[in-house]
Amino acid sequence: MKRSLLTARLAAICALTTTLVVTACSVNPATGERQFILIGEGREIRMGREADQQITASLGLYDDPAIQAYITQLGNRLSARSERPGLPWSFKVVDDPIVNAFALPGGFIYITRGIMVHFTSEAQLASVVGHEIGHVTGRHSVEQLSRAQLAQVGLAAGTLFGPQELQGFLGAASAGLGLLFLKFGRSDERQADDLGLRYMDRAGFDPREMPGVFTMLGRVSAAAGGGGRVPEWLSTHPNPENREERIERAIAALGKDFSEREVGRDSYLDRLDGMVFGPDPRDGFFDGALFMHPRLRFRLTFPEGWQTQNQRQAVVGVNGSQNAIIQLSLTTQSTPDAAARAFLSQNGMNSSTPRRTTINGLSAVTADFRATTQQATLVGSVAFVAHDGNVFQLLGYGTTSAWRSARDEVQRTFGSFGELRDPDALGAEPLRVDIVTLPSAMTLQQFAERYPSEISIEQLALINQREVGATIEAGTKLKRVVK
Ligand SMILES: [Zn+2]
Repeated sequence: MKRSLLTARLAAICALTTTLVVTACSVNPATGERQFILIGEGREIRMGREADQQITASLGLYDDPAIQAYITQLGNRLSARSERPGLPWSFKVVDDPIVNAFALPGGFIYITRGIMVHFTSEAQLASVVGHEIGHVTGRHSVEQLSRAQLAQVGLAAGTLFGPQELQGFLGAASAGLGLLFLKFGRSDERQADDLGLRYMDRAGFDPREMPGVFTMLGRVSAAAGGGGRVPEWLSTHPNPENREERIERAIAALGKDFSEREVGRDSYLDRLDGMVFGPDPRDGFFDGALFMHPRLRFRLTFPEGWQTQNQRQAVVGVNGSQNAIIQLSLTTQSTPDAAARAFLSQNGMNSSTPRRTTINGLSAVTADFRATTQQATLVGSVAFVAHDGNVFQLLGYGTTSAWRSARDEVQRTFGSFGELRDPDALGAEPLRVDIVTLPSAMTLQQFAERYPSEISIEQLALINQREVGATIEAGTKLKRVVK
């Protein structure tokens, strides 16, 4: 009863609005449901494309052409069997150790390398890619954006890294990239599961690999939750009730024989051989308040007690009261002078005359400024430093009252910028996945003793989707993590 009343109401709204907005109400081809969406497909694609550029720039793609070609091929195989095969589908593996996958309107799908190393078969990967395709064909992501979240997304991405970074940056920086990810509802999740199952079934994969993915994601979330980290997958894809049982029933209801279906266990594991595992120290890492970046060969010490974060395009520190910030980024300018001119000529900017100086022997230009934005007046200092063929921007600012106490700390941090010479830091290498074929049957515990890993036995069990005590057959391929 409730349902039909709602449908009737929706129909009434549709009738009222179709004269104004032609695309407002339509029956979704994937779900058969009526949807109230103010965004036409052309605009959906444009929105997705814009956000795609920001996400690609801020997260970065995993640097392995073979893996990128693989995900593109797999994604296209699934999306071709969806109800929206004509979208400009794109599938990318992002260089991020977190366990997540996400979809933008218009067909832009991202899989982290962190989730890739947790799958044990191609069919498992296909079930998550299919689920993300389901969010696009079900138009969940565009629905979310219709609820005025795009403004937030655009603001966060634009202000984090764009030239107008003085606007609303404090909140965005402390929240990190989480703002970029759309949060779905539980009913969206159920629908995406069903659609993902439909696409992997149509593409010839064994759908019985799907429930194991949810079990794995649950284990990852449980392990992450204990360590105080946000379980990323769950924060964007809330777990529906009885998810595994629900999907198992749906698989059984298909009433098919899946014994000849594609699983792709060994071939998938072979692709993972050598893949980076966990954070990549070459892209910068913290040792307490000291930040070191081996690829760009610099070091910088943040004030003690500040909350810091290494984002792809900026390293950010925020003070305890969250009203002052330090941000280090690369400029596209060729000299500190040119970079200072470009920065100080922004709208609303009043500054002192830029001064030429040196910081630990590196040539630099510094200035103090006062910037008036829509929200507040911000006071700060900026330094542009030439090092190793790049010009770095060190930016510190806060509210007028915060700046009085933060200024000295910011200046000390600026003064700590210098060349990274520590050979251990310069030679830092990430951990990598190594695939081992078992010569004889053994337990995971015995495997860990015979083929040591840099991770705990619990983590090893998780990425292999095994129990610690269970015996594993000879000839099975297993993952371990090595230096
Ligand atoms: Zn989802």
